[in-house]
Amino acid sequence: MSNELKAGGFCVEAGKKLTGFFEVPGTPVKMPFTMVNGCKEGKTVVITGGTHGGEYPGAETAIRIAQELCPEKVCGKVIVVHPVNVPSFMARTQYVSPLDGVNLNRVYPGKALGTVSERIAYFISSELFSQADFYMDLHGGDIHEWLTPFVLIPMAGSKEVAEESRKAAEIFGVPYVIGSWGTGGTIGAASLMGVPGFLSEIGGRGLWCEDEVQLYLRGVRNVLKLYGVIEGEPEKFCDTVWMDKMVGVDAGVSGCWYPCVVPEDVVKEGQKIGEIRDFFGKVLEEYFCPINGKIMYVISSLPVEAGNPIYCVGPM
Ligand SMILES: [Zn+2]
Repeated sequence: MSNELKAGGFCVEAGKKLTGFFEVPGTPVKMPFTMVNGCKEGKTVVITGGTHGGEYPGAETAIRIAQELCPEKVCGKVIVVHPVNVPSFMARTQYVSPLDGVNLNRVYPGKALGTVSERIAYFISSELFSQADFYMDLHGGDIHEWLTPFVLIPMAGSKEVAEESRKAAEIFGVPYVIGSWGTGGTIGAASLMGVPGFLSEIGGRGLWCEDEVQLYLRGVRNVLKLYGVIEGEPEKFCDTVWMDKMVGVDAGVSGCWYPCVVPEDVVKEGQKIGEIRDFFGKVLEEYFCPINGKIMYVISSLPVEAGNPIYCVGPM
């Protein structure tokens, strides 16, 4: 049958829903999945939550949307992985997998014979992106990140892919849509394979709440409507501000981080953003904003390590 939905060695006939675990070859990783092959033909949408294990609103949204989709009401195919980074999710690690110390969202499209994270990325790219018409990667602020909700769209692929991604991001229901120029993450890799998509950011600081999950679910359902996968007209929930990139600043030294801004603060070039002090209170470095803009996220943990992000500002 040409209308079967296949991935990771599983096969789902039209009109059926299957849940199980994708085994990532050569690793102990088993990723929970839900595959829905609708009664009617249509687009194929891939949804991942928990690419970073400590970003709970996105992971919980993936778990919920997987439960609510049923083949009778789906036109096309949906594959949800919920969550992707099971080792990091269970170990509550920030950014990296406890198995290889690698940030999964830096190693796409992955390697068949790489580290655990590289093999996860390879599985997602080769098995899922290869058949997707659209891709949603649901993130949030990590355990130590405080952010204002935004959506990143891939700019590294074709102009058409970027435009289609932006159209979907603008109806997702959060106010900021930002260009992402990287290729080593989920959406960058998918875009280079011709798949439009976005990476959404809601919540953070190791928390999740029902309001965030509902905001997330509303957006995911709206994009599924845009692609005709579920019934209904997509709505416009809010006006969006476009930013063609974000400017991230990394810590120059390790120490204790004292920010003097919060997410959504409007900041001016040269304005002080925070400082890093040593354990005795001595100021090691001060940070001043490089541009006029809006604070998109700021690190909320006291410790920071040299080379890790401390804040990010969107140009305005
Ligand atoms: Zn993330």
